[in-house]
Amino acid sequence: MSSANRTSNALKTSMAVSEPKLFGAVEGGGTKFVCALCTEDGSVLEEATFPTEAPDRTLGAVAGFFRDHAATRPLTALGVGCFGPVDLNKESPTWGHITATPKPGWSGTSVARPLIDALDCPVLFDTDVNCALLGEAALGAGKGLRDIAYVTIGTGIGGSVMAGGHIVHGAMHPELGHMLVPRHTEDMAFDGSCRFHGGACLEGLAAGPALAARWGTPGQLLPPEHPAWGIEADYLATLCATLSLILSPERIILGGGVMQQDHLFPRVRTALKEKLAGYLPHLQTAADFETYVVPPALGQRAGILGAWKLAVHAL
Ligand code: ADP
Ligand code: ZN
Repeated sequence: MSSANRTSNALKTSMAVSEPKLFGAVEGGGTKFVCALCTEDGSVLEEATFPTEAPDRTLGAVAGFFRDHAATRPLTALGVGCFGPVDLNKESPTWGHITATPKPGWSGTSVARPLIDALDCPVLFDTDVNCALLGEAALGAGKGLRDIAYVTIGTGIGGSVMAGGHIVHGAMHPELGHMLVPRHTEDMAFDGSCRFHGGACLEGLAAGPALAARWGTPGQLLPPEHPAWGIEADYLATLCATLSLILSPERIILGGGVMQQDHLFPRVRTALKEKLAGYLPHLQTAADFETYVVPPALGQRAGILGAWKLAVHAL
């Protein structure tokens, strides 16, 4: 090796040591956008939050946050997890856009473009729920696993699937909240609250607004002994049974506001055990179900940490 090469290699090595990689993460939500600068191992160095206002204003603030930092130390990559629906098709001219959303002013907005224009680094884009699963898989309740389902039961029901370590996108992205479920026998009269499927789909029967419409009271005010919860657990057990049979995940993570009701977890596990009726060899005992259907471990941090993981995937 020539001495020039040796010097140049030594220089590269010292640069690599003195300049560890820096990753950007964005969690775009209906009420706020969270931005973070992270190390390669997921430590958050700096964070900022901007309210979700007009797209120009909010995305301008997000781009400004990263541009200011990139001026002194360039980002290796940026990961963006965004509320949807979003276009994830890389061949599409509207990749990185929010498509038809009820959020005023945001339909047809490109979230990725202002960030690409502001930053000289790869920008990766995915749904908020896919990022939450990426976060949980990397650092939370799915750590060490490669086949995981993550479902959030809140204002809507959104789900994400990891198969063999990869997030499943399909033609668009899974919409498992709208899977069709059989009616519980004590819940035949309710019209359901899905705009598309009424009471035929899971979201129309079991999301937070469905609970509120069905019982006249939001879920957070229904006591644990209320009959709502037995019915809710049955619907969620149907979801888990279907996921188990179709995808064979190693774990199912259930999050979102409605799952703040801790008592739902044992109920869902018991109902799921009954529905599966001993069919799956790895799911037999109560202890098997205890570690199979679990809450998220990262809480509110799953989305931003998943966006970090998305950025790291750019490497
Ligand atoms: P979002 O889905 O809008 O991001 P959440 O996951 O907090 O937000 O979901 C909000 C929904 O969850 C509302 O319909 C609310 O009534 C319901 N919810 C929030 N907290 C609870 C709770 N502790 N118990 C039951 N339902 C809850
Ligand atoms: Zn639906």
